Amino acid sequence: MSREIPSQQLFSSNHRAARLHIDLDALQHNFARVQALAGERRIMPVIKANAYGHGVKQVAAALHGADGFAVAQLDEAIALREQGIRQPITLFHGFANAQQLQACAEYRLRPAISQLWQVELLASNALSQAIQPWLKVDTGMGRLGLPVAEVSEQWRRLNQLPQVQSVGLMMHFANADQPEDALNRQQIERFVTLASQLDAETSVSNSAALLSELYPCEDWLRPGIMLYGASPFLDQSAQSLGLRAVMSFQAQLIAINQLPAGASVGYGADWCCPQAMSVGIVNVGYGDGYPRMAPSGTPVIINGQLSQLVGRVSMDSLAVDLRGIDAQCGDAVELWGQQLSVDEVASRVGTISYELLCNAGRGLRA
Ligand SMILES: *Cc1c(COP(=O)(O)O)cnc(C)c1O
Repeated sequence: MSREIPSQQLFSSNHRAARLHIDLDALQHNFARVQALAGERRIMPVIKANAYGHGVKQVAAALHGADGFAVAQLDEAIALREQGIRQPITLFHGFANAQQLQACAEYRLRPAISQLWQVELLASNALSQAIQPWLKVDTGMGRLGLPVAEVSEQWRRLNQLPQVQSVGLMMHFANADQPEDALNRQQIERFVTLASQLDAETSVSNSAALLSELYPCEDWLRPGIMLYGASPFLDQSAQSLGLRAVMSFQAQLIAINQLPAGASVGYGADWCCPQAMSVGIVNVGYGDGYPRMAPSGTPVIINGQLSQLVGRVSMDSLAVDLRGIDAQCGDAVELWGQQLSVDEVASRVGTISYELLCNAGRGLRA
């Protein structure tokens, strides 16, 4: 099963040929990989940010066997309910006011509570039905979560409220992508101390933590990036982890120029042909979510052959080196995907696959 998203749907303003191909077979393959690692643990695929740019609707539908889902914000969760998704949905950002809290009850959402004022808000509002929030613990991430010292008291307090059915405990690693980092041990110790005192459901692991088994005894896993077929680790490829790329970002060669030695290519004129050569122009640029900071030398695949960027990325085009490449106008260009890992492009750009995937999929509404 796989679907082409026509360019009209992808980029609403015009009929560009740049497009995303989302391979739902690869998504299901990666999910099966998570299931194999999960054992008894339940799985809530993380599908925030439009499923990391892959189109949340089709991703949620394809992962119908998941035990739950996780998103960041309320509107994302409501859209899933309206689509007919019935599993528990966790909200990483919880609720911001009483109205959002009521929506959590109405839509049977599991908000994460990370501030004392959210505890107060819940304590002072009757709800149409009891909810199962998560209490988020800041064990060292320094982002969202109650300080460790306050957790037991607030967990007990929440548990006694009639509007609360049960309270889970959740934490997030800062350095799971570096499994040997000492902070991981500290975070685990702090969390285990709490979890051993409170009879709570637990959720700890993102993709990196699952793949390196940092915390094997939780109830709910929260994998994101690995489902999309990218690696959370700098030193291990997605392929070596048994994952398959879900997104391929494709465009076409629209011009081939024969340039003399010394001719410059693109804005800034700071890339010059070292010899007489042919340079291709591809109909994709930063306006389509390709990273403008991709330097000359960043790989691209042209008609199955490895090529590279030359000169700066424009808004709607970029230039490629066609030396030694058999190419014609109209040939397919893969910016990343099955033939070229998004992780490799991300590392050339100095970012992570997450950012490239989200940006490329920003216009995707499938
Ligand atoms: C985004 C996120 C995840 C998923 O992380 P991956 O590295 O993509 O697996 C899990 N938990 C929380 C709290 C997150 O914000």
